[in-house]
Amino acid sequence: MRIYGIGGFNEVGKNMTVVDLGEDAIIFDCGLFLPPVVELEEADKVYSEKKLKAIGAIPADDLLDREGLRSKVRAIIPSHAHLDHIGGIPWLAYRYNAEIIGTPFTIEVLKTILKDENIFLKNKIKTVQPNSFCYIQGKNKKYKVDFIHITHSTLQCSMLALHTPEGVILYSNDFKFDNNPVLGQIPNYDKLKEIAKEGVKVLIVDSLYSGDNRKTASERVARTLLEDVLFTTTNKNSGLFVTTFSSHIARLKSIAEFGKRLNRKVVFLGRSLNKYVSAAARINLCPFRKDIEIATYRNQLEKQLKKIENKRGDYMVVCTGHQGEPGSILDRISKNKLQFRFRQDDQLLFSSSVIPTKQTIENREQLDSRLKKRGVRMFNNLHVSGHAGREDLRDFINMIHPEHIIPAHGDHSKTYPMVELAQELGYKNKDIHLINNGQKLIF
Ligand SMILES: [Zn+2]
Repeated sequence: MRIYGIGGFNEVGKNMTVVDLGEDAIIFDCGLFLPPVVELEEADKVYSEKKLKAIGAIPADDLLDREGLRSKVRAIIPSHAHLDHIGGIPWLAYRYNAEIIGTPFTIEVLKTILKDENIFLKNKIKTVQPNSFCYIQGKNKKYKVDFIHITHSTLQCSMLALHTPEGVILYSNDFKFDNNPVLGQIPNYDKLKEIAKEGVKVLIVDSLYSGDNRKTASERVARTLLEDVLFTTTNKNSGLFVTTFSSHIARLKSIAEFGKRLNRKVVFLGRSLNKYVSAAARINLCPFRKDIEIATYRNQLEKQLKKIENKRGDYMVVCTGHQGEPGSILDRISKNKLQFRFRQDDQLLFSSSVIPTKQTIENREQLDSRLKKRGVRMFNNLHVSGHAGREDLRDFINMIHPEHIIPAHGDHSKTYPMVELAQELGYKNKDIHLINNGQKLIF
C-alpha cells in the first residue's frame, strides 16, 4: 500500500491524507488552511478552487491525478467538523466519484458550509454514528472503517480505523484524552485496545503538541476556570461578555449554564456561532439551545445590543472575536461600529488562547489596546487545548503499538518532537516517517 501526505504536514491546516490500496483509494480529511484566506483583500473574497489552490489554502490534490489515483478514490472521510479537516471538501470533492462519510455533526456542519457557499455536490453524503462503522465498496473488495469516538474541542470526533488485508491504518487527527468531557462520551479506550490487538500497521497521529511536556487538561478544567471568574469577581451590574471558539459546543454549554445561574439572559452574537450551534441543535446535540437567544444579522444585532447597553447587568453576551478577527463582533464593538459601548468595569472573558501566528497576535494586541482605553476588565486564557500533549501521546503509542508512525498536524518544528518521542519508546528511524506535503510512503 501507499500513503500520501497531501496537506497538513507543513502547516497547521488543510489536513489531507490518502491511502492507496492498489485498486482502491480512500481520503482522510480535506481541510482548509485559514491564514492565506484571512489575508485576502476584501475584493478577492469570491473564492474559487483555482484561487484557493493558488494561495495554498486547500490541499494540492492534483498529485492524485499525476499518480493515477483520482479514479480509484472511493470515499472521503473527514475525522471531525473543524475547518482544517472539512473546509476543502466543498471545493475538491466534485473531482472524485466518491461518497463523503462522517459523523452526524461533521456532516451537518459540512452541509451548512455548502449552503452558505452555494455549492452543490453530486457526491453521496452519508452519516455514521460515533462508535459505529461503515463498509466502503471498492472495485473488488469491501473495507471496514471504524469511527472510534474520541474527545477533542468539537463534537463527535473520530479516530478512523481502516481495516485492510495488511493491517489497520489508524488515522488519529485530532484528539485529546479527556476522561471528564462536559458534553459527549469519554474516549473509546476498549475499541482502541481491540484495534491494537488486531495490529496497527500505520498510525497517522496529531503531533501538534508532541513537544509540550504535559497531559492536556480536561474540558472540566476550562469549565472551572470560567466558573471561578464568573462567580468570584465583582460583576453585578457590569456588562459581561464571553468569547470562544464557535465550534466548541461543550464550552458554549458551560458558558450558557453559568449565564443562567447568574440570572442573566444569555445572548449569542455572530454568524459563526449561529452556524455551529444551529448545526448541533438540528441533530439534538445542543442541550442549551432553548436557554439562549441568537442574533446574526445586523438589525437583530443592533436591536439586542441596544437592549444590552441599557440593562447590561441583565445579560451575558457570548460573541465572536477572541482572535481579534476583523469583522467579528468584538472587533466591531471596539471600533464603535455597533450600538454598544464598553464601559469601565465591564468584563470580557477570553475562553481561548491566542493562535500564535503573526497576524493573529497583531490583531489581538490592537483589540486589547482599544478595550483597555475603555477600562474593560479582561480575563485571558480561560481555556484548555483540544490536542494531546507529549505524555498523552506516550500513553497512546504504548496502547496502540503501531508498526509505523506518521506525525501530522503541523510544520516539522511542531511534529519533530513526535519523532524523538517514538525513538524514546524504542522505534527505529525506518519506522518513523516525518513527511512533507506531496510525499508518498510505500509499505
Ligand atoms: Zn480539530
